[in-house]
This record gives sequence, C-alpha cells and structure tokens, in this order.
Amino acid sequence: MSQEKAQPSDFNWEELGFEYHDLPYRFRAYYKDGKWSEGSLETDSNIPVNEAATGLHYGQNIFEGLKVYRRQDGGANLFRPDRNAKRLQNSAARLMMAPVPEELFLRGLKEVTKANQAFIPPYGTGATLYLRPFEFGGGPVVGVHPADNYVFEVYATPVGAYYKGGLTPTAYVTNEYDRAAHGGTGAAKAGGNYGASMLAGDEAHAAGYSDVVYLDPRLHENIEELGSANFFGITKDGRFLTPKSPSILPSVTKYSLLAVAEELGLRAEETTISINDLDQFAEAGAMGTAAVISPVGSITHNGNKHVFYSETEVGPWTQKLYDRLTAIQYGDEKGPEGWAVDVPLN
Ligand SMILES: *Cc1c(COP(=O)(O)O)cnc(C)c1O
Repeated sequence: MSQEKAQPSDFNWEELGFEYHDLPYRFRAYYKDGKWSEGSLETDSNIPVNEAATGLHYGQNIFEGLKVYRRQDGGANLFRPDRNAKRLQNSAARLMMAPVPEELFLRGLKEVTKANQAFIPPYGTGATLYLRPFEFGGGPVVGVHPADNYVFEVYATPVGAYYKGGLTPTAYVTNEYDRAAHGGTGAAKAGGNYGASMLAGDEAHAAGYSDVVYLDPRLHENIEELGSANFFGITKDGRFLTPKSPSILPSVTKYSLLAVAEELGLRAEETTISINDLDQFAEAGAMGTAAVISPVGSITHNGNKHVFYSETEVGPWTQKLYDRLTAIQYGDEKGPEGWAVDVPLN
C-alpha cells in the first residue's frame, strides 16, 4: 500500500502538537521459531496481522515512549534508553511475551532516528522526535495462551513542546475508576491499561479537569498515578515524595527526578501517600516523558478541592527540577553517567 509520506518542510516546529505523522522509515523485527530476526528499516507504515493474533484479542501488546532531543551542536541525544529496554522486557515477562534483547531495542531506536533525522526538530523549539517502540503477539491463536510469534517495531513522529509558554499548573480529580488491579498489570506498560483508563479520563475532561488521580485499587486511599504519569509532592520540610506501589508504572522520569531532587538538596523517597494527607505538600506535579513535569495546581477529592502552590503559577522547586532535568536531556548540562546517550547521525 503506498501512502503519502511526511516531508520535513510540512512542519512548523513551533506549532507542532502530539500527533502521528507517517515518516519515511520504521524499524521492524520478527520473533519466530524461538528467535528474533535481525530487524530492518521498512517504509510501509501498515503491518500485515493475522486475524487470530493475540495482540488483537488477548491484550498481548506492550509499548514504550521516549524522545530524541536535538542538541545545540546539531547532534542528537536519547535519554536513558537502557531503562526503556529493560522496562519493555519486564512488561513482556508479565504478559508472557518474548523479551526483546536490549541490543535489538537500542539498535532499533538508533536506526530509526538516523534514517528519519531530517524530522528531529531544531534545538530551542522544545519540539522533539518521539519514538514509539512496541511489541505485540501474532497468531493464529484461538485459546487463551501466549503467541509463538511476535512483532517488534519502533516508529518515530515529531511532537511539539508540551508547554508552549512556561510550565502551567492544571487541575486533577479522583473518581471511582481504577486503571489497574492490585496484582494486575499496572507495572507493565501494557495497552490494556490505557484502554481501561479512557472512560475515566474522558469523564474527568468533561468535568473540566486535565486528568484523573488514580487511587490504589484495594483501599482507594493512597495516590497511585495521575492519568498516565507518576505523582510527586514536595513537603514543606524539603522532602520529595513519590508513591510506592506494585500497580504503578515505573517511570524513567520519576527515577531520574528522584536523583535530581537529591542533587538539589531535597530528601527523595518512595513511600505511601494518602489522598487525605495533601496538606503536607508545598508543591506537587506529574512526571513522564511527554511533559517531564506537569505542575499540579489542585486535586479535587470527594468534592473538596485542595490547592498546592498555586493554580496559575509553577512553584520554585518544580521549576528547578524541570530546568535541571531538561538541561541534561538536551546536553546543555552534564548529568550522571549514561543518562544522555548520543545517537550517531552519519
Ligand atoms: C509511560 C507511563 C508513565 C511515564 O513513564 P516515563 O518513563 O517517565 O515516560 C507513567 N505512568 C504510566 C501509567 C505510563 O504508562
């Protein structure tokens, strides 16, 4: 099937949103007879799938998301891609899928980036090239059991700066839905968790909130996630706290900010955080690759609205954490060993 491919001249980098564009190349590898193919760049954005694929019927589909940052010197950085490689393997283990070797995963990221390098937005626009590695089970399988063949792909699409101005706080709300069960797949980046979150998110949006505060699925008392991002709060006495729970998705941004917080002089800790104990926090935010940090202006729970630092302005710690982490990602400042990974472009 031939399709119109995107051209670099199609894009106004300053006004890009978060949408799919059909770039010239994606990287694909296939698992069959117990082993992975070497993988190669392909031009067709459509994948032929058997109608009895477990990825279509039984939720054997998992993914990752990370960005390519254009540096000031014209080069390109990935941020801690080894963490994404390991997380995809952990997700695969939970869903009984064939693990993608780290070497294949990293090679896929690099090949897709190099082949589509004209689509890495310029430094200073806040726009990036988003990479979406994913894996799903093939068929034919009718009974509920794992597939014996899998597809691994990495596609790329340019995305705009999350905040076109500065960091802007938004409002969140709790509701009765869970995104994942206790003992379920919450710690895997599985497509099914996203399917389960859509109705909850839609109702929150319709009520004027930016997203849902998911509480722990057993007691509905402790904070788990904010939409598809991890939560942090900074206490009045200088502690950076983020929830600890087996049903939270382990965010690469979260683990990076835990280290950055310590570096900036906060005491960082993963711990239980009750929805009834928000008064301890001077600032709060959501963490994930898309926005790095999204400041949380308020959380409404059982009709009571709790305002953190401000509903309109970002707090000083939140801004410092954001500035330091993004400076490392873009290569403006040196970070811990192995965080910024150069992608060869020639
Ligand atoms: C992907 C994801 C995050 C953020 O993880 P990052 O590695 O920081 O991008 C947080 N929560 C959920 C549910 C996610 O799927």
